[in-house]
Amino acid sequence: MNVFRGVPAVHTLLEHPSVAPYESLVGRDALRAAVSAELDRVRLRRADEPPELVAQHVAERLEALAARSLRSVINATGTLLHTNLGRAPLAHEAFAAARAVSEGYSNLEYDLLAGERGSRYERASAILCDLTGAQDAVVVNNCAAAVLLIVDTFARGGEVIVARNQLVEIGGGFRLPDVLARSGARLVEVGSTNKVYVRDVEAALSPRTALLMRSHRSNFTIEGFVHDVGGGELAQLGARVGVPVVEDLGSGALVDLREYGLPHERTVQEAIRDGVGLVAFSGDKLLGGPQAGIIVGSRALVARLRSNPLVRALRVDKVTLALLAQTLHLHRSAQTRTAIPFYRMLAATTDELRERARSYLLAHPGASAVACESTVGGGTLPHARVPSIAVALATPFPDALAEALRRERVPIVARVTDGAVLLDLRTIAPSEDHLVVAAIARLDA
Ligand SMILES: *Cc1c(COP(=O)(O)O)cnc(C)c1O
Repeated sequence: MNVFRGVPAVHTLLEHPSVAPYESLVGRDALRAAVSAELDRVRLRRADEPPELVAQHVAERLEALAARSLRSVINATGTLLHTNLGRAPLAHEAFAAARAVSEGYSNLEYDLLAGERGSRYERASAILCDLTGAQDAVVVNNCAAAVLLIVDTFARGGEVIVARNQLVEIGGGFRLPDVLARSGARLVEVGSTNKVYVRDVEAALSPRTALLMRSHRSNFTIEGFVHDVGGGELAQLGARVGVPVVEDLGSGALVDLREYGLPHERTVQEAIRDGVGLVAFSGDKLLGGPQAGIIVGSRALVARLRSNPLVRALRVDKVTLALLAQTLHLHRSAQTRTAIPFYRMLAATTDELRERARSYLLAHPGASAVACESTVGGGTLPHARVPSIAVALATPFPDALAEALRRERVPIVARVTDGAVLLDLRTIAPSEDHLVVAAIARLDA
């Protein structure tokens, strides 16, 4: 007969190494609740369970809870701007600046010299103008909001001319034609699916034309027998007929990506130099900063955006502004830009990645280092590939192995390709190597 000898002490379980680390994820109360629920279960069954096993059951309860909370994960997918994994990781320096201005009070909307109310956007605008050559800037929640604000300000009840080969649907079902319809603007599509000329735009002009718009294709490409209306020629036409020209760049490169071995991507500076009146782009794509929608352009057009009451509804908070301002500062030179994780990841050489792979290969007998390709992601550069190195884990059950990695205390999201689990080292931070190495060492060979 089984003699019931009681249950492990609460404090032993709370301090157990497989339980205690969950405190930072779910809090002390949840820890206590899980321990007490598990002890009730043990008492009910009057079963003798070794403390180790009880602790493991408590950890499983906490794991289920933690899996539903927002937590940090290791991105081993090789997609640098992974929209489902939080898009751009932020620079440490940006956080330090954001923390410094947001833990206490700040001069967010206060002019310290005059001792009176100041402008929330002044500082971010100054750096944006400096970097892009624009005259003024405004920052809203994301690029989708930026497009909405522009259309609402200039095109209510009017017509917006867009090339047929640029009517993009970006992630989350955001379609340019729908945004126009929502603002009471009428979309005038011109050209054919593959070819659009500036004369098509010119032929569609009417007294109701409110805006000439260009949109980045972002997540698709058209190849073959194609022609686009250039930003420069559209800007010239707009200037001639007195209609504002706007460009939704989406990705928001401030640097020529050829420096990083990627295809050329139109930069914000180029759009401004072309004479485009307003340029909209995201803060958390190629900029590598926080989620934000940035609009730069001419003083007069930005002033009209600012006077739209929607600006107040779409405005960003002090933490975002500080993160953005500091990320922009880091863009000032190639050297400081390496502090931005996206650019640091891009700059890593395959030799460096291969060197890092060594500790992985020692940890798991079935692991090998293989050449692979990382992608940029985030709805940018859909065809661009970056040569990379992955640790491949050979297994008859790749999906189960990938799931086991996602169940790690710091979950690891891997890529499954051709029956192997790939851990792309380009998107794993060197500071995370030891966690992944420990995780694969725990896997069955
Ligand atoms: C990504 C993208 C957007 C939306 O940007 P968010 O910052 O995610 O709102 C808008 N337009 C284009 C062309 C894009 O590529």
